Amino acid sequence: MKQTRSTCPYCGVGCGVIIESDGAQITGVRGDPDHPANFGRLCTKGSTLHLTASAAVTVQTRLLRPMQRATRGSAPEPIGWDGALDLAVEKFAQVIRDHGPDAVGFYVSGQLLTEDYYVFNKLAKGLIGTNNIDTNSRLCMSSAVAGYKKTLGADAPPACYDDLKSADCLFIVGSNTAWAHPILFRRIEDAKAANPALKIIVADPRRTDTVEIADLFLPIQPGTDVMLFNGMLHLMLWEGWTDARYIAEHTSGFDALKATVRDCTPERVAQVCGIAQDDLLQAARLFATSAATLSLYCQGLNQSSSGTAKNAALINLHLATAQIGKPGAGPFSLTGQPNAMGGREVGGLANLLSAHRDLANPEHRAEVAALWGVPEVPEKPGKTAVEMFQAAADGEIRALWIACTNPAQSMPDQATVRRALERCEFVVVQEAFSTTSTCDFADLLLPATTWGEKEGTVTNSERRISRVRPAVPAPGQTRDDWAIGVAFARKLEARLARPANPSTLFPYGNAESVWNEHRESTRGRDLDITGMSYAMLEAAPQQWPLREGETTGLARLYEDGVFPTPDGRARFVDTVYKPVAEAREARYPFSLNTGRLRDQWHGMSRTGTLGRLFGHVAEPSVQMHPQDMARRQLAEGDLVHVTSRRGSIVLPLAASAEVGLSQAFIAMHWGGEYLSGSSSTGERLAGINALTTPSYCPDSKQPELKHAAVKILKA
Ligand code: SF4
Repeated sequence: MKQTRSTCPYCGVGCGVIIESDGAQITGVRGDPDHPANFGRLCTKGSTLHLTASAAVTVQTRLLRPMQRATRGSAPEPIGWDGALDLAVEKFAQVIRDHGPDAVGFYVSGQLLTEDYYVFNKLAKGLIGTNNIDTNSRLCMSSAVAGYKKTLGADAPPACYDDLKSADCLFIVGSNTAWAHPILFRRIEDAKAANPALKIIVADPRRTDTVEIADLFLPIQPGTDVMLFNGMLHLMLWEGWTDARYIAEHTSGFDALKATVRDCTPERVAQVCGIAQDDLLQAARLFATSAATLSLYCQGLNQSSSGTAKNAALINLHLATAQIGKPGAGPFSLTGQPNAMGGREVGGLANLLSAHRDLANPEHRAEVAALWGVPEVPEKPGKTAVEMFQAAADGEIRALWIACTNPAQSMPDQATVRRALERCEFVVVQEAFSTTSTCDFADLLLPATTWGEKEGTVTNSERRISRVRPAVPAPGQTRDDWAIGVAFARKLEARLARPANPSTLFPYGNAESVWNEHRESTRGRDLDITGMSYAMLEAAPQQWPLREGETTGLARLYEDGVFPTPDGRARFVDTVYKPVAEAREARYPFSLNTGRLRDQWHGMSRTGTLGRLFGHVAEPSVQMHPQDMARRQLAEGDLVHVTSRRGSIVLPLAASAEVGLSQAFIAMHWGGEYLSGSSSTGERLAGINALTTPSYCPDSKQPELKHAAVKILKA
């Protein structure tokens, strides 16, 4: 039996695993006792990974060879790799020639490895000359990115998991950590057991399992986080709990924010947020006066039309009270996907460039062009996720390349997404699984390797980079994602005949050579990892930054009070509260919230293959408060139509006191096979995203997946 150290491919905790294999078969998995993210522990998803890689599951679910669809709706037929790549090059080159580089787009994934991401980013921005590359991380962490950059100056989570041990107060907001980041939650439980005086505040519209550990629960109305944070700051100012010295020496912009929060009186905050004034006061006191306060937050803040403001308003609290840059303190975003961080590091978003550079900055564009050896990186911002599918639906983008993600299930406003996929002249889907909804729209399917088969790196929530290693050979004709990108890029290079590039821009022979180019691109940047070789990562995962010559990374940022802004000061952001994009009203009287279950992952292409993972929650349902059910004469198990302005789905009703009055909750995981429905214009649609809104935050462009106004009527 062979043992291979690798990383769990699910959430952003980034647990280390040891894969056991026998020849070409993965036979077991256990937690890596030496990995600093989990010290040997795994949750139900991680500990069943090997079962998702069994021969029986592989035969039923995997895409094992390239397939071509002659016409839309027909069954795909096998095609060789050479023919498949030639076809892709012919179609993409034709669209680029006839309509320009911005007529193509790439939609990739926070589940790709950093090396995969790097190649696709360079392919789009460096070779083709379009910034139309975005990722499902747009649906996950882009508000956290924008929040960090606006306040602290760089997209760098300043805290680390070990800070849980030193914290005296935890503020968990917009995160069901117990289910979405289970192994981190075990560490929270450990911290509470070791220090019973540790105070835990949870703010969330739902009374989730995470609330069970809380000393104080703030059941805020959906989308009112900015008002909550501004109200806490109002009280901190009134009570003299802010740190005037830290504000004066290390920050700027406090006066404008002070003027804004003046109006956020306890009476107003209590009324808008739906919480008691005493609880607000207690939360403000615990946050400000505890020796060290650590905030943990996730999609409740990010997936919002005010996502950036929510992130910034929370970071404002840390700056105002000097709860940052010391053990146990700081704002700490929990990454949803396993490598949303790595994607940000290589600039794999429509508005970013390599190594945390900004597309809008001409010097940064010139630096990246020089690094890549291309004349320029285009200035025009690329289309972000929602914009990209809207542009395809409008006929502006004509060819799409989708890798390792399932937008026909996971994007909001499915009617538009499906129109986009149908209207595109050519759709490539690069996937490990043949079972995703998006595969049905592909003209060309390219088979990719997946967990246990591929090599590279990922970065977890605490900036820790771990190696991902293959335990078994690639099955069938699958190839690594980076290698598919490189093979396509080399053929396209030859077709486009870029005069400035006599030799290939993609000289990579393995994942490590891609990594080394990425490393070099970070030299002198905030995330400098020039000292972090594959050889170093063989010994142990490492946090960034880790510069050339250094032997360990930095556990915690900003301990010197100096921030990566032009004047070295952190910036308060004047965060004005705005309600959700789509308010409840008489015709749509419920706030629909969406979220994860404990034992499922995304669209269930992997977790949905195991019967045992349905033991926790067996089927989809819409949860509603028992009082709302009684008022509407509805009963547990009734089939109901849940209808938003965009579509309608049918599913059983479940009574739950976890959701507030006039609120409803549906887990995000179930797609078309389970949840049928239709759009407002009668097209067949499926899954919860038939209902969700494409409204997004103006700064981060992250859509408001956490709130849509719906009505619920008996079917
Ligand atoms: Fe995997 Fe996340 Fe579970 Fe760790 S907590 S085993 S990374 S799913």
